[in-house]
Amino acid sequence: MAKQEDVLKKIIAHAKEYGFVFPSSEIYDGLSAVYDYGPNGVELKKNIRDYWWKAMVQMHENIVGLDAAIFMHPTVWKASGHVDAFSDPLIDNKDSKKRYRADVLVEDYIAKIEAKIQKEITKARKRFGEQFDEKQFVETNPRVLGHLKKIEEIKNRLYPAMERSDMEAIRQLIIDLDIADPISGTKNWTEVRQFNLMFSTQMGSTADGASEVYLRPETAQGIFVNYLNVQKTARMKIPFGIAQTGKAFRNEIVARQFIFRMREFEQMEMQFFVRPGTEMEWYKFWKEQRMKWHLSTGIPAEKFRFHDHDKLAHYANAAADIEFEFPMGFKELEGIHSRTDFDLSAHEKYSGRKLRYFDSEINESYVPYVIETSIGLDRMFLAVLSHAYTEEKLEDGSERVVMKLPPFLAPYKVAVFPLTKKDGLPEKARQIMDNLKFDFMCFYEEKDTIGKRYRRHDAIGTPYCVTVDHQTLEDNTVTLRERDSMKQERIPIDKIAGVLAQSLSLKNQGL
Ligand code: ATP
Repeated sequence: MAKQEDVLKKIIAHAKEYGFVFPSSEIYDGLSAVYDYGPNGVELKKNIRDYWWKAMVQMHENIVGLDAAIFMHPTVWKASGHVDAFSDPLIDNKDSKKRYRADVLVEDYIAKIEAKIQKEITKARKRFGEQFDEKQFVETNPRVLGHLKKIEEIKNRLYPAMERSDMEAIRQLIIDLDIADPISGTKNWTEVRQFNLMFSTQMGSTADGASEVYLRPETAQGIFVNYLNVQKTARMKIPFGIAQTGKAFRNEIVARQFIFRMREFEQMEMQFFVRPGTEMEWYKFWKEQRMKWHLSTGIPAEKFRFHDHDKLAHYANAAADIEFEFPMGFKELEGIHSRTDFDLSAHEKYSGRKLRYFDSEINESYVPYVIETSIGLDRMFLAVLSHAYTEEKLEDGSERVVMKLPPFLAPYKVAVFPLTKKDGLPEKARQIMDNLKFDFMCFYEEKDTIGKRYRRHDAIGTPYCVTVDHQTLEDNTVTLRERDSMKQERIPIDKIAGVLAQSLSLKNQGL
């Protein structure tokens, strides 16, 4: 088994064992690509959501929040283009009976060619050493140029075919590239068909004429249809943003890789409304801001990269992904899109209402342009979890699994342990808990040895453990143990809250 798959398996097992993530309806053998968050998972997820909200809403005077309903008027999805165009091209292999996204098969093929280029570069770097000039090499090496030309040719066929929804052309590309099913190894492909990813259900009883409604496939449209309500009531002046977090639903064809691709997931989106013509400067601004936010979680820069899109969605004039190095490789974590006035104009057209802004600075009324930042909360959860998961060999030869979560994201901030269950130690420990619990998530435990209790809290990422012993009864001091360094120090009880507050403060996160 590949090592990367191994890591993902370990994380999935750990997430289940320690109450972060469970398969949905597990006693019925689960539901494909649907997951539930357990006691520790729900805290970590809430903390990530709060951290995003603070960075976007609390830290920006010109961004306000919204919580729109999941159900929306069906015409919203007609106007947004989702009814007609929110679909993936599907292809089945007749031998393995496996279903694939046709465009992904081609993109995987491109990725293989890219890997070949990377190999050439690595080889050449070794050969030339210090003086190696990667740019020059890529621009002149015949093999690399050949690979680049091939990629260009494929993209020039794939993206226009996608744009035209020309299923036959996509199929022909798969045939011409000789792409085989990774499972059966055969090239026995069906036709390519469009498959709409929206879930629908009935609203109202069927007797009195129920209407079909959709479970929203993105939270963004709730923001667009409320654009005027928010702008007017919050008295916002352009440029301003509206932020929202909430569930979205997509009937993903290839749903796998744990919580990376789910059918029910949560998004954290912000739409930033700007004067037309200024969108590129705001697009750049938000790309930088969002990358800064990711780095502020303490995850190192080499785990992230931008991927600028060649293929733009029908609504965008610029788009980039922030990709994260998940255990299964670099994959999209967040999208930053310059959506032009596509959505607001479409809603103007379909609703017959004006969705404009009167800009008193230039004495002009216009439909604002929009920059969107859109991140999947569950993908961020997986990014944080997979980066934090650490297996360590200790000096005494033992091993521990420790979740090196930044304290502000950890489910519990402190665990309080009485050394033993007698001599009034539990009562003293309870007093400490009762004092701290108003401000911090605290965990009380008296079972097992202190060492075992430390391990349990390492495994869920609790940054501090406090132990109450007999000396505590005499001088009101406790042992404070820090998770990553495992250092222990004796501190007065009344200093604990200060240590926790300091470690949780977001002041030095660079937001
Ligand atoms: P992908 O190409 O991976 O399907 P996308 O480009 O369709 O993603 P967007 O529509 O831009 O995704 O959605 C914004 C964000 O929502 C993504 O960056 C991702 O973090 C998250 N997201 C999208 N689909 C899913 C899903 N099925 N499960 C979990 N998160 C998702």
